[in-house]
Amino acid sequence: MSSVLDIKNLSIDFASKKKTYNIVKEFNLRIDKRMKYGIVGESGSGKSLTSLAIMNLLPEVLNISEGSITMQTKEKIDLTKLSPKEMRKVRGKDIAMIFQEPMTALDPLYTIEHQLVEVLRIHTKSSKKEMSDLGLEMLKKVGISRPAETLKSYPHQLSGGMRQRVMIAMALICKPKLLIADEPTTALDVTIQAQILDLMNDLSEEHDTSILLITHDLGVIAETCDRVAVMYAGQIVEETTVKQLFTNPSHPYTKGLLESIKSLGDKERDLYSIPGNVPTPFNYQEMGCRFASRCPHAMSICKTEPAMYQIEGDHKSKCWLHAEEVNLNDEQYLRVGSQ
Ligand code: SF4
Repeated sequence: MSSVLDIKNLSIDFASKKKTYNIVKEFNLRIDKRMKYGIVGESGSGKSLTSLAIMNLLPEVLNISEGSITMQTKEKIDLTKLSPKEMRKVRGKDIAMIFQEPMTALDPLYTIEHQLVEVLRIHTKSSKKEMSDLGLEMLKKVGISRPAETLKSYPHQLSGGMRQRVMIAMALICKPKLLIADEPTTALDVTIQAQILDLMNDLSEEHDTSILLITHDLGVIAETCDRVAVMYAGQIVEETTVKQLFTNPSHPYTKGLLESIKSLGDKERDLYSIPGNVPTPFNYQEMGCRFASRCPHAMSICKTEPAMYQIEGDHKSKCWLHAEEVNLNDEQYLRVGSQ
């Protein structure tokens, strides 16, 4: 199957006057047509920065130091090589994005109709009437009960759930090949959350749009995605199908995340959380495994960075526990804590 998006070896850095900090390291991901791909991780893991890099919207203090982001539009293009003007043509038409808080993306000064028409005006040659009709049709599709009235409304006159529906309408109105949704339901209550996820799913299938879903919530991944990458401290540590991740998790960090969800639903057990704190880019372990300080299996060999190991089929995990070349009786495998 042909890929819609192919990220190879992406690294994002922050350069201060004294030192360069690596924020995202050697990030690889491939999204095929109609695939729903999730990136999950705690806040600060680099997942949102990766989505901003795809959209060419990284803050100025950050830069892509290595790697490529190839998108299949009419032809294959490397998004990291596009000028701001060229990127504006891709945004909205080939890739669209929805955010956690729609108010950051909707302009409070303009009506919903103006904002929907504006997206179409940039990317199509339709007449004003055609654009307005299409806007109305999209609002119906996203389940807004009084679409004509909503077209004439301003963002502040709508509820959070309605604003998110409007964002989905704006994102999908040009039938993009890829929809990036960054924590699209985090600010909504549980019932609306499920409705928005269903809506995204249905419309992406109808429009043949692939989805890249960014979230801290494994439950949202389970409901929505086919494949998933688990991020920790700026790196993918496990990558597999959603089914494999839940039935046969491999990386100690993923196991910890799943354990904390299980303990939430089990009244008999104490609440589990992974010991220690999520590191910031300023204190990432420069050498070795970035999870080592919190890992219950850390060994002396973990002071050297593990490779991404292919465990079974296309299930990958970045952990020394999967290295066949290492002999488990080897002295290297003495637990760090027992030394
Ligand atoms: Fe734990 Fe070592 Fe695996 Fe890192 S490489 S997750 S420290 S066992």
